[in-house]
Amino acid sequence: MDTFDYTGSPARIIFGVGAVDRIGEAIRELGCSRAVLLSTPFQAEAAKQLAAEIGPEIAGVYENATMHTPTDVTDEAMQVVRGLDADCTVAFGGGSTTGLGKAIAYRTDLPQVVVPTTYAGSEVTPILGQTEDGVKTTLKDARVLPEVVVYDPALTVSLPGKMTVNSALNAMAHAVEALYAQDRNPISSLMAEAGIKALLEALPVLHDDPADMEARSTALYGAWLCGSVLGTVGMALHHKLCHTLGGTFNLPHAETHAVILPHATAFNAKAVPDLLAPIAETLGAGEPGRGLFDYAASIGAPQSLADLGMPEDGIGRAADLAVKNPYWNPRAFGRDDIYSIVEAAWHGRPPAV
Ligand code: NAD
Repeated sequence: MDTFDYTGSPARIIFGVGAVDRIGEAIRELGCSRAVLLSTPFQAEAAKQLAAEIGPEIAGVYENATMHTPTDVTDEAMQVVRGLDADCTVAFGGGSTTGLGKAIAYRTDLPQVVVPTTYAGSEVTPILGQTEDGVKTTLKDARVLPEVVVYDPALTVSLPGKMTVNSALNAMAHAVEALYAQDRNPISSLMAEAGIKALLEALPVLHDDPADMEARSTALYGAWLCGSVLGTVGMALHHKLCHTLGGTFNLPHAETHAVILPHATAFNAKAVPDLLAPIAETLGAGEPGRGLFDYAASIGAPQSLADLGMPEDGIGRAADLAVKNPYWNPRAFGRDDIYSIVEAAWHGRPPAV
């Protein structure tokens, strides 16, 4: 076996239907007693109900968490944290709410309990993206890693069908790139493979019955594994290209991942077919990229960048930008390669295999 480096996440994971009832216990075990419960305006009612159910460990609720963690929102939340003399946070929601909890921890080192309600996976990464004056920057710091994650699949049943699919494919993309990451190790590969398989298995069931609790559990388990590998190994072409497309054309984050994943996978599969073979095997497909494209169609995922609002004359611009700052990828690429990928994805055509 090759030598490898593996750093495990120190977070405590509490998983299962009904895990939500253990939030109070998790707060107490951290030695805390005055938590601020965080949520978005959309989930404010559910957050207040949860606060009442948890009981005296919740000192107050802040319900203005916002996508991309604007620093002025964090400043406002910090006033609430100070005003309540809070000793920890409980982030209840998706990646936006988790981001606020991480931003508070970055400034205060307050312990965090995260209760994810989407498949974003931010709760198990040391990564924090923040937006100031419209500019988003990303940092990596162990301080932002939550101490406890409470995964209760029942909280994801309310996730609308489209968000379920997009959020899960976004999560899957982390694990696909982890399979060929330059700094991968046997543990990250095990987690990535299991995460992809869990999501691939769960999504068709949820497509037919969004309330299937067994499939919700499988999907959330997969999302945890996929988020974990995002936190431990480096990403490549797929993530960088999605970042370029999202930032340049203001495209929705998870949907862009969903559209690009089959194309980036097909492109890289030519260089590392063995590493991506588990995807094709799970799908019963001859090739992983084409397999993912057909799979995405079968669960109603978005397949075209045009449908996400990207202008056709942006294809060339995207190709120019994507090769501007070179980075490692298992297969070398140039402007023409990126142009072909983005063009096929813009039209919603299957990837070239
Ligand atoms: P989100 O947190 O923005 O949620 C979108 C909307 O759905 C919100 O209104 C939210 O309240 C609502 N919602 C969440 N769960 C719900 C549920 N179960 N039922 C009904 N409504 C629900 O979306 P997201 O995709 O989870 O997170 C996106 C953000 O997370 C982005 O800012 C992204 O950059 C960040 N992110 C960060 C990392 C990281 O490692 N730092 C990883 C992944 C995503």
